[in-house]
Amino acid sequence: MEMEECIFCKIGRGEINCNKVYEDDEFLAFRDINPQAPVHILVIPKKHIAKLYDTEEISLLGRLLYIASKIAKDEGTAESGYRVVINTNRNAGQSVEHLHLHLLGGRIMHWPPG
Ligand code: 5GP
Ligand code: ZN
Repeated sequence: MEMEECIFCKIGRGEINCNKVYEDDEFLAFRDINPQAPVHILVIPKKHIAKLYDTEEISLLGRLLYIASKIAKDEGTAESGYRVVINTNRNAGQSVEHLHLHLLGGRIMHWPPG
C-alpha cells in the first residue's frame, strides 16, 4: 500500500475529514466511522506504519498507549472501564493497513473477544 493512497495517512494529512478528539505533531485520534461501542476512538501515528510489528520505535508505541489512556479519562470511561485493541493481520481482522489503536468504552465488554 502506497502511503499516498493510505486512508489513515490521508486522514493524518487532513485530506479526509474526521471527527478529531486529539492531535499533536506525531499522532491523531478520531472517532471510528462505524463505532462498536459508545466510545470508539482510533489513535494513529501520522507517519505510515502498516503493522504493529513494522516499527522498532518503542517510545512511539509508548506514546500511542499513553495518548489512549489520557483520552479514556477525557471521555469519562476510565473508571467504568475500557479496552484498547490493535488488530494485526487476517486472523485479528485488520482492515486498514496503517497502525491504529482502538479505544473502546461506554459499555460492558465480553471476554474472550469474538
Ligand atoms: P481494523 O479493522 O483495521 O482494526 O480497524 C479499522 C477501523 O477503521 C474500523 O473500525 C473502521 O470502522 C474504521 N475506519 C475505516 N475507514 C475509516 C474512515 O474513513 N474514517 C474513520 N473515522 N474510521 C474509519
Ligand atoms: Zn498510512
